[in-house]
Amino acid sequence: MSSNETPPPQSTVPLSQSSPVPTKPSNTVLPYQTPKLRDHYTLGKKLGQGQFGTTYLCTHKQTSELYACKSIPKRKLLCREDYEDVWREIQIMHHLSEHPNVVRIKGTYEDGMFVHIVMELCGGGELFDRIIQKGHFSEREAAKLIKTIVGVVEACHSLGVMHRDLKPENFLFDTPADDAHLKATDFGLSVFYKPGEAFSDVVGSPYYVAPEVLLKHYGPEVDVWSAGVILYILLSGVPPFWAETESGIFKQILRGKLDFVSDPWPSISNSAKDLIRKMLERDPKKRLSAHEVLCHPWIVDDRVAPDRPLDSAVLSRLKQFSAMNKLKKMALRVIAEKLSEEEIGGLKELFRMIDTDNSGSITFEELKEGLKRVGSNLMESEIKDLMDAADIDNSGTIDYGEFLAATLHLNKMEREENLIAAFSYFDKDGSGYITIDELQHACKEFGLGDVELEEIIKETDQDNDGRIDYGEFAAMMRKGDGGMGRNRTMRSNLNFNLADAFGGKDPSAAI
Ligand code: ADP
Ligand code: MG
Repeated sequence: MSSNETPPPQSTVPLSQSSPVPTKPSNTVLPYQTPKLRDHYTLGKKLGQGQFGTTYLCTHKQTSELYACKSIPKRKLLCREDYEDVWREIQIMHHLSEHPNVVRIKGTYEDGMFVHIVMELCGGGELFDRIIQKGHFSEREAAKLIKTIVGVVEACHSLGVMHRDLKPENFLFDTPADDAHLKATDFGLSVFYKPGEAFSDVVGSPYYVAPEVLLKHYGPEVDVWSAGVILYILLSGVPPFWAETESGIFKQILRGKLDFVSDPWPSISNSAKDLIRKMLERDPKKRLSAHEVLCHPWIVDDRVAPDRPLDSAVLSRLKQFSAMNKLKKMALRVIAEKLSEEEIGGLKELFRMIDTDNSGSITFEELKEGLKRVGSNLMESEIKDLMDAADIDNSGTIDYGEFLAATLHLNKMEREENLIAAFSYFDKDGSGYITIDELQHACKEFGLGDVELEEIIKETDQDNDGRIDYGEFAAMMRKGDGGMGRNRTMRSNLNFNLADAFGGKDPSAAI
């Protein structure tokens, strides 16, 4: 970050000193051909301009629903890495799309000139503009906002993603109303990371960048620092590390003292200052984690008992999966195979993170280590049960396909086309019904014993005709996590649910 080319400090700049070596770019970002954007959407007025992309209002022709479309001109993508960056941004948006405070990606399109990312419209403007408008926020308002922002950070980290560019410009409100929801929008600088991996590329935005980024040795802790800077700004209206030039700002970030003396700090609670100090701790090892921030007394409503640590995303998805009935598990596996690379790219990264010896399958030891690294402390027996639940073919390890099925977020299967594809997979003769025979056949293909098929049919088959039609199938798939496995008997104990998870290893354990 040479200081002689000083961009306005509030803009996103790739702080990288070395310009990337231009290599011959292959001229597509997406690994597949897409329909034409304009066959499905009409583009309207410009909503915003970023470093790479211009975002437009867009209307879905068929439904008239409004979306935002970020169009990235390919002429701005100068080298292979730029192409890869856009592809990664798209995968990460899919990977995080379950989170209520992350903008929902709707579709991607590519033509000769542009890559278009169609996403949920956030019509309430940037958090940045609300700060400017208001000057600063009350402690209560700021606590609410920072809880949302750090909640997004926690979700990112639990899915193996480091954001790297948190700042108020990259959070938008979904509507202009006062009680609008905040959404993280821009994952252009985000990357997948493995715990313990050190990064060295200097990227981010001047005010928000963590000291260890400037020192070129960093990990996901940088996001908590940036959130700490946002919090300081929310409460006071000015950035904690400030100077006229970019290099001056960096000097402050590396060595400057926090000002808690000037107005309005004397009237701000000690608890808020305590939290800021702990987020803007220069030593990343001592800095609070996203989860610890969310447990800080200033954030936790003091009438509510502090949260117990959240399950990591991997763990909660595995648990959810283990409680499903067999048909649903098989269907998820079918759906996982149909999903596009961009939708499962993030899970592939997670799989790689856990499969440390790159063997292509996850062993018990690897799962145990992986869950520990994403912050879950489980008993061996619990891990064993999760393992058994995910190990569809009883091979003793979890292969990539099994992992995908078990950790796929359920929002992926809400989509009609996925449900239809899964249904027709089972309905081999295309009769419009899944019969016992067809189910038996599928179980064989998946290497499962044929126990309890009648029961699955009975519980899914609402009109009692002995077979499952599409409506019944879709209802079963969309039903909450436990599905019907849960209301059968009093199997609240995870071990019990799991013992028969896949006609499991110990069928005698089934009630
Ligand atoms: P870049 O990666 O080029 O910085 P951004 O994703 O930050 O691009 O988008 C640029 C600008 O477009 C944002 O600052 C915002 O004003 C606007 N914008 C982005 N996404 C949306 C959206 N979903 N709804 C409304 N406006 C958006
Ligand atoms: Mg941006």
